[in-house]
Amino acid sequence: MEDYQVLIGLEMHCEISETKTKVFSSAKNGYSEEPNSHIRPVDMAFPGTLPVVNKEAVKLALKASMILHCTQPEYMYFERKNYYYPDLPKGFQITQETKPAPVGSYGYLDFECKGESKRVRINNIHLEEDAASTDHYPTFSTIDYNRAGVPLLELVTEPDLHSAEEAVAFLETMRSIYQYAGISEADSRKGQIRCDVNVSIMDKGKDASNPKNWGTKVEIKNVNSFGGVRDAINYEIERQIALKEDGTYDEMEQQTRRWDEDTFSTIYMRSKVDAIDYKYFVEPNIPKFKLSPDWLESIRASIPELAPERKEKYEKVYHLSSYDAQVLVKEKAVSDYYEETISLGADPKGAANWITSVILGYLNKEELEIKDLYLTPTMLVDLMDMVKSGKISSKQSKEVLNKVLEEKKAPKEIVKKLGVTQISDDKTIRDIVVKVLDEHPDLIEDHRKGKNTFDFFVGQVMKATRGQANPSLTAQIIHEEIDKR
Ligand code: ADP
Ligand code: MG
Repeated sequence: MEDYQVLIGLEMHCEISETKTKVFSSAKNGYSEEPNSHIRPVDMAFPGTLPVVNKEAVKLALKASMILHCTQPEYMYFERKNYYYPDLPKGFQITQETKPAPVGSYGYLDFECKGESKRVRINNIHLEEDAASTDHYPTFSTIDYNRAGVPLLELVTEPDLHSAEEAVAFLETMRSIYQYAGISEADSRKGQIRCDVNVSIMDKGKDASNPKNWGTKVEIKNVNSFGGVRDAINYEIERQIALKEDGTYDEMEQQTRRWDEDTFSTIYMRSKVDAIDYKYFVEPNIPKFKLSPDWLESIRASIPELAPERKEKYEKVYHLSSYDAQVLVKEKAVSDYYEETISLGADPKGAANWITSVILGYLNKEELEIKDLYLTPTMLVDLMDMVKSGKISSKQSKEVLNKVLEEKKAPKEIVKKLGVTQISDDKTIRDIVVKVLDEHPDLIEDHRKGKNTFDFFVGQVMKATRGQANPSLTAQIIHEEIDKR
């Protein structure tokens, strides 16, 4: 490993989930329980049907292009990529291949990996249509055309990534951008993200900025989870190093492989040497159109605060640790929940504690997402207020939260039902303390001699109040009453 440098280039596909309809038709862009229920004739390539470009999809694609510091074209057009497969009834995919058609060319993205800042150059980002989805069974296959025509963004990086960790950190950053910018849920569990991973190795010491020095590229197709990307890269690096060591690397052809979860290895699919020619040409049914500078400007202005900016705000304005801030911004939905809690008046530090420790812990354990959480930001603020005003202790508040989640009832209701309230009334506690001290004069003597009988007194008060006495007030009163004697 020490003798080689690794080059990785990614082709990341992400479905745009935030448009109402598909990219060239008025069918709903969405998942449905019912396969083949979101289809218009044009998605099925019926004769005489024509595609109509979805302006919102173009807008979201341009937004991504701008965030990636890419150049936007003056005129936009689409191209046909011709091939036959059952998931592609037209016999071609509408995409953007040749420059300057893509929504974005030649940009870059800075991201963090293990605390270090890295930059990856973006070759291009383009808008295309997704194909239908197929499922294969032992004796038959099924096709669901709901996915045919779903808007898809393909992002192509230069081979500037040098390890599996860097590739995954880049993908996580992109997922966060897609979520924060309102482009996509970018949920790989819903199949919204798929990656082609290109890997090669070259001798250490050679100049990686010169493509002539690059090793032979191996493409791993359609990896559909970040864990898969990581494992596939690590496997492929080992495999290629082994070829170097036994002197056969130079004979290796450019090839396409696939990641196989079951054998935990990449498997040869086909050579790229005589790759099929897709016979690209300009899509004649979609006229080339101009992107007006005003429209581009309004799109640029609509780019919201992204995760790095929110993180900085959490550290500088709310004084959270870098770690807590990172935990909160990782998922946009979590960060939104936090922001809403604060907008309702919660103390930023306190709210961060509740969310990072208790709430995320619970969601993790139950395998739930924050959108499924019964406790709304308003309820969280109610709960925090009850602690602040001394109505319940912070220990009790954890029990109340558990009950809230278990019984799906508001904190106020739970507090009432359980009868958990904190006694913070001086007179009530003092009466009990006096009674306890009267009953144990010998222990007061022991206390004066330096023996620890104090906890016993606290315990007696708690017993008498069923744990509801305010602990710090109780301690204070016990001290006062002992001193009086
Ligand atoms: P193709 O035409 O075969 O798809 P491209 O030049 O479009 O090849 O590159 C596809 C992807 O492969 C890009 O992400 C690019 O960065 C990456 N890539 C190209 N050459 C190499 C290499 N030698 N090692 C690793 N990745 C590479
Ligand atoms: Mg390519």
